[in-house]
Amino acid sequence: MAYNVPKLADFSPAGLETAARELLGALEAEASSVGNETEWKVFRDRWMARKNGVLTLLNDLWLKAAPPESKREVGQRVNQLKTRVEGCVEAALKKVQGGAVGSQLLAERVDITLPGIRRPRGAEHPVIKTLNEIVSVFRDLGYSVEQGPVVETDYYNFEALNFPPHHPARDMQDTLFIAGQGAKAQRDRLLLRTHTSPVQIRTMEKMKPPLRIVIPGKVHRNDPPDASHSPMFHQVEGLAVDTNITFADLKGTLDHAMKSLFGSSVKTHFRPSFFPFTEPSAEMMVTCFICGGSGRRGADPCRPCKTTGWIEILGCGMVDPNVFEFVKDNGYDPKKVSGFAFGMGADRIAILKYGVDDIQLFFNGDVRFLEQWR
Ligand SMILES: [Zn+2]
Repeated sequence: MAYNVPKLADFSPAGLETAARELLGALEAEASSVGNETEWKVFRDRWMARKNGVLTLLNDLWLKAAPPESKREVGQRVNQLKTRVEGCVEAALKKVQGGAVGSQLLAERVDITLPGIRRPRGAEHPVIKTLNEIVSVFRDLGYSVEQGPVVETDYYNFEALNFPPHHPARDMQDTLFIAGQGAKAQRDRLLLRTHTSPVQIRTMEKMKPPLRIVIPGKVHRNDPPDASHSPMFHQVEGLAVDTNITFADLKGTLDHAMKSLFGSSVKTHFRPSFFPFTEPSAEMMVTCFICGGSGRRGADPCRPCKTTGWIEILGCGMVDPNVFEFVKDNGYDPKKVSGFAFGMGADRIAILKYGVDDIQLFFNGDVRFLEQWR
């Protein structure tokens, strides 16, 4: 039963003493039942609120109602009680706050005998792994690794690679252009690079011949995604420039690289092709490393090579003298130097190597797929 301030009938010292003891008993009892801050606020308001708090009622019901001869006595008593109530309310707050700190400490306690948290180890993405394998083959041959921006200018992506403006060769690469570039001169307009070849020009601008570089990187084309196409994919490209570089150097280098990548029994084969920045140009085939060149897997036809026993693996050729003209001032006089270049799609090689049947699996981030390469 909650305490109510009684109207006093007996204002004698003995009467006051009894009423005060009753009040203090109620105060103690209520204070001891306060368990948290919300309860404490209710408790505080009950005793100290200006309107209808116990202290206010003491003033009204005891002091103001006291007969003149008892006023002094009652006033002193009410003041004493006021001090007691205030002290008790304050102490109750400390008690609940102390309790809260205690339980927080308990909750944050560290059991140092428990084993540590093991973070799951990540794995190298199969495409990046393939990229790195290709790069390391060429690094072993003395090639250095170069990289360049993915957002490129028209100049580096096309013009300096012997794709003149309006030339139909540009149609071979369905390009993603950056919007709002119309006010710029065509060569300064930005696009997402369609191949890693702009890095060839960028490197020849800053490094003099002889040069041997390998360029891994991400490229974009406006190809709708399907099992064998992705608007974003990866290339590795290489460039060697020196005096007296011939097609024999190209063949020897790439044949060695393919044997390093796919095994020493792999054979290579070149057939004529076209790229604007190489002349002559070729596509290189390797014997299918899935069926060993037989075109069959047991009784079944070999799908990756379409039963031909050969897989087209990269494009290559001798650097077109027109390309050297763009970097002639840095020592690349086409009359004095020659070179070869090659490029391959890392995603395609990863697909063949790991027997993946959908390129989208590489990029949609499904951990169940990626975990296989841990
Ligand atoms: Zn095959």
